[in-house]
Amino acid sequence: MRKIKKILIANRGEIALRILRCCREMDIRTVAVHSAADRDLKHVLLADEAVCIGPAAAPKSYLSMSALISAAEVTQADAIHPGYGFLSENADFAEGVEQSGFIFIGPRPETIRMMGSKTNAKAEMIAAGVPCVPGSEGVLPDDEAKCHETANQVGYPVLIKAASGGGGRGMHVVRSPETLIEKIQMARVEAQNAFNDPDVFMEKYLETPRHVEFQVLADGEGHAVHLGERDCSMQRRNQKVVEESPAPGITPEQRAEIGSLCVAACKRIGYRGAGTFEFLYENGKFYFIEMNTRIQVEHPVTEMVTGVDLIRQQIQIAAGQGLKLQQDDIPFIGHAIECRINAEDPEKFIPSPGKIDKYHAPGGPGVRVDSHIYSGYSVPPHYDSMIGKLIVHGRDRPAAIARMKQALSEMVIEGIKCNIPLQQRIMNDKVFARGEHNIHYLEKMLNRSV
Ligand code: ADP
Repeated sequence: MRKIKKILIANRGEIALRILRCCREMDIRTVAVHSAADRDLKHVLLADEAVCIGPAAAPKSYLSMSALISAAEVTQADAIHPGYGFLSENADFAEGVEQSGFIFIGPRPETIRMMGSKTNAKAEMIAAGVPCVPGSEGVLPDDEAKCHETANQVGYPVLIKAASGGGGRGMHVVRSPETLIEKIQMARVEAQNAFNDPDVFMEKYLETPRHVEFQVLADGEGHAVHLGERDCSMQRRNQKVVEESPAPGITPEQRAEIGSLCVAACKRIGYRGAGTFEFLYENGKFYFIEMNTRIQVEHPVTEMVTGVDLIRQQIQIAAGQGLKLQQDDIPFIGHAIECRINAEDPEKFIPSPGKIDKYHAPGGPGVRVDSHIYSGYSVPPHYDSMIGKLIVHGRDRPAAIARMKQALSEMVIEGIKCNIPLQQRIMNDKVFARGEHNIHYLEKMLNRSV
C-alpha cells in the first residue's frame, strides 16, 4: 500500500474540478496542470499548486506525456489522475507514469492496451461468456472470398469497424455484397490514417439498438462489483447528449445477469479501477461492443442512484487500499438523468466559445451541477465544447424528468450560446418520456421541424 498525499490532475474543465473536490474531501493535496489558455480555470485557482505545461494546443500541453511527467516530478506528486479523454486511455502514458515512479490512477498499462484493441477486447469477452455482436472472428483477412463468406454468415447489413477505432470514426455500413470489398478498403484507409492501424473487423449492423453500458469497480486482485447500467441512447454523431440510470425497461434480473458477467470479465482480465462495458441493446438482448478503461463523463448518474463516489473509489484502489464494497452494499435507488451542457448553437451545433457574462446555477433537492464555469469566465475555443453537466435525481423516471425540466428552466448562461434549449426540447419529447428512443432517435428528432 502506498500513501497518496498529492495528486496531479492531468486534465481540464469540469472533470479536473470534480477530481479536485474529491481530493480535498480526502485530505489529498492537488496539483493542477494547465495550458496557457487555461490559467483562469476554476480548479487551477483552487488547487494547492498549479503548473503551466504548454501552449493552448492540446498536443503540446494536455497530450504531452513529457510535460505532464515533468510537472509531477517538479511538484513531487505521488499519483496522476488522467480524467477522461486526452491521455486517459493511452497505455504508453500509463506505462510512462509508472516507470517514472508515480501511481497511475487507472488500470494496468497492459489492460489498457488489450482493451484498446476492439478485436482483442471482444475475444476476451467471448471467453468470459459476455454476449457480443455476431461478427468476424478477429480482424478481416485480405482474401476477398473469405470476407464475402464471413458477411454471408453474419448476414447483411454488416458494419465494418476499425480494430483500434474510437470516436465513431472509420465505420461503414454495408447493405449488400456488391459494395462489401470497396467499403472494407475505404475503412482500412481511414483506419490507417486515423489510428495508424489498417486492421478492420466485421459486425452485424443492428438497426435500432439502444446504448446501455455497465459501470464496474475492481481491485485488480480478484474482487469486483458492478454498479448497474446507464442508458446513453440520446446521441448526435456518436456523441452522447443525455444519459440516465437505470436504463428504462431493464429489469433487476437483467441487471444482475449482465452485471455479474461484467464482474466475471473483470476477474478474468485482472481489471483494476473503474471501467465501463458498453453494450448495444436490441429486442431484449445485450451485445458487448467495447470497454472504456477510465472514468466516464456520465459517471454522476451512477453515483446518484448508488451513493458510491466513483472518483474516491478510483483513488483508494490506486493507493492499494482495495475495494471494500460488496455487491450487496450497492443499492439502486430512484432515477438519475444527466444533461450535457455544451457551449454551442442549439440548432446548428457550431461551437460558441467566449465570455460568460452571467451565470446562474440551478439548485434544490436532488440537483447536482458539475461545471467549472463562473460569471466572467471565458470559454476557450481550443477544446471540447462541453462546459458542464446538470444532473438530477428523483424517486422514479417521471420525477427525474420533471426535476430536470425545472432545473433547466432555472439555469442561466449568458454571453455565449449553449444547448439548454435543445435539452429542454428533449425533456419535453414524448418518445423520450416513454423511454422508447434508440441511438438514431435524436438525429431524427432534429430533422423534424419543431
Ligand atoms: P467508437 O470507439 O469509435 O466510439 P463503438 O464501437 O463504441 O466505437 O461504436 C460507436 C457507436 O457506433 C455506438 O455507440 C453505436 O451507436 C454504433 N455502433 C457500433 N457498433 C454497432 C453495430 N454493430 N450495429 C449498429 N451500430 C453500431
